[in-house]
Amino acid sequence: MKKPSFSDHVIQWQKLKGRKHLPWQQNPNKYRVWVSEIMLQQTQVATVLKYYNRFIFSFPDVKTLANEHIDEILHKWSGLGYYRRARLMHKAAQMIINKLNGRIPSTVEGLMELPGIGRSTAGAIVSLSLNKEAVILDANVKKILIRFFGIKSALNEKGTEKKLWELATASLPNKEFRHYNQGLMDLGATICFKSNPKCEICPLHSSCRARIEDITDIIPKKNKTKPPKKIILRLTAFINQKNQILLEKQKESQLWGGLWHLPESKSRTQILKRSKKLFLTLFVEKELTSFIYRVSNKECHVNITIVKGQQDKLGSPKNGNMWCDLLEIKNIGTSSLVKRIASKITSELLDQGE
Ligand code: SF4
Repeated sequence: MKKPSFSDHVIQWQKLKGRKHLPWQQNPNKYRVWVSEIMLQQTQVATVLKYYNRFIFSFPDVKTLANEHIDEILHKWSGLGYYRRARLMHKAAQMIINKLNGRIPSTVEGLMELPGIGRSTAGAIVSLSLNKEAVILDANVKKILIRFFGIKSALNEKGTEKKLWELATASLPNKEFRHYNQGLMDLGATICFKSNPKCEICPLHSSCRARIEDITDIIPKKNKTKPPKKIILRLTAFINQKNQILLEKQKESQLWGGLWHLPESKSRTQILKRSKKLFLTLFVEKELTSFIYRVSNKECHVNITIVKGQQDKLGSPKNGNMWCDLLEIKNIGTSSLVKRIASKITSELLDQGE
């Protein structure tokens, strides 16, 4: 009798023990899998579970997503971080509607033509939604392959990535691609943990090099990581007589591109100059707080100044600026940082009885 292959083990295990209740596994189609795969990039399943259904409820198909304003999409994405993913998904949806007659491509090559979709994401969409042959090489799959084949070089070392794609391609089964790829991801997430993998119950244990050589605590070898980049952020909370805060839309090239943010100032002189332009009378101008905020491998040293004043007439949105009610901030597309600052200011104002 033929000895079961690597893929046979993975497929059988997925059918018996793998995850089957994730929301994107129910009625899988290209759109639902695409949304889940983009959300799962750099974000844990537990976090994605809090956002996925709400997002799909608001944007149930590619047409709804393409026709929605980016502000609304960023608002629904708010909390997942890495907002560039949402902006690229919106662009891709518009491309599908405007150039592809509303049809999401069904091939890896076709999907890779769209913004924000790389080879592994395209492979996931094709295999998980259509059960078609395609390779996935996300972080979990890389971990399994590195351990199973005993690869001792770090991921960011030259040649490792190429080798993994070759191994992943050579290990593909000739059917049941959905179970196979889902099985690899499930094994990586629920059995082959970074620390203390559960080798004793792993379907791959009899041939896994890392287990046989007892090197599961050494491989995957850690990448040499760069220390986070230090950024000084001097933000000003301009508040008017209606307890509305001035927000600016960040440019796409900025850290929170497309989101509403507090204006940045280089110096106190600049803050005072802007205050004079905004307000007839100035009530308060003081430093509110400073703290360190970490985002996308950046260490932001945040310093907040609060300026309260009386506007001549209450302004309406113009030139990428808007006055937003402090209590409404949670309902618009802003970063977690701005939400945190708004909540601090709101409690400060409440303490003062305003
Ligand atoms: S045997 Fe252990 S190290 Fe190897 S794939 Fe399974 S869980 Fe991971």
